[in-house]
Amino acid sequence: MIPGMLTETKVVVIGGGVAGCSLLYHLARLGWTDAVLLEQHELTSGSTWHAAGLCTQFNQSYNLMGLLRRSVELYEMLEGETGQAVDYHRCGSLRIATTEERLHQFHHVAGIASSVGVPFELVSPDRAVELFPVMDPEGVLAAAFLATDGHVDPTVGSRGRTPGRARAAARADAAPLRRHGADSGGRGP
Ligand SMILES: Cc1cc2nc3c(=O)[nH]c(=O)nc-3n(C[C@H](O)[C@H](O)[C@H](O)COP(=O)(O)OP(=O)(O)OC[C@H]3O[C@@H](n4cnc5c(N)ncnc54)[C@H](O)[C@@H]3O)c2cc1C
Repeated sequence: MIPGMLTETKVVVIGGGVAGCSLLYHLARLGWTDAVLLEQHELTSGSTWHAAGLCTQFNQSYNLMGLLRRSVELYEMLEGETGQAVDYHRCGSLRIATTEERLHQFHHVAGIASSVGVPFELVSPDRAVELFPVMDPEGVLAAAFLATDGHVDPTVGSRGRTPGRARAAARADAAPLRRHGADSGGRGP
């Protein structure tokens, strides 16, 4: 038993990667402050540490594209909400189509994007080169441009989601099993 560790709590989140941090954050926002996150090593030291941090909303599922849009919106507002920089860069993304099948898929995804509210433009090869000058346009039929896509530092972005008290607990615990508590940040039910 780690000294001072809680023995009772309403919710235990196991794993301090982006999924666990995000879960703790959303629980706290909903007023579930009696929640604890347990991490066996360091916060974000699992797969999250290895991620390139690319945040794209390109997806062929309505639900997943909606979820991805919500993630990007969250990264853009998190710094204002928590005061901690999350290093989100909205640089946009380009995907190229060199076959009719890929172009057909872009038209399909464009329809989903317009329903879900994700900016999605099908652009000519010339416009794609304007956006990404080092690209070779040979053989390119068109490109999908998602202006609100970007990249984030996955470690900072995940830690930005753990509320203030959780970060304090992470620093205070020297024991190998880390505990991180949820804090509604004044947004209780
Ligand atoms: C090389 C690479 C590049 C990637 N690039 C991207 C990218 O550009 N964009 C993108 O969206 N995704 C990318 N991904 C995928 C992304 O990293 C993962 O989908 C994401 O990090 C998974 O998060 P997670 O919280 O589920 O898992 P993890 O980050 O692995 O977190 C799980 C945590 O649980 C802890 N844990 C496990 N068991 C226990 C236990 N019993 N008790 C306590 N703690 C425990 C682990 O220590 C770990 O910290 C990439 C992945 C890799 C490997």
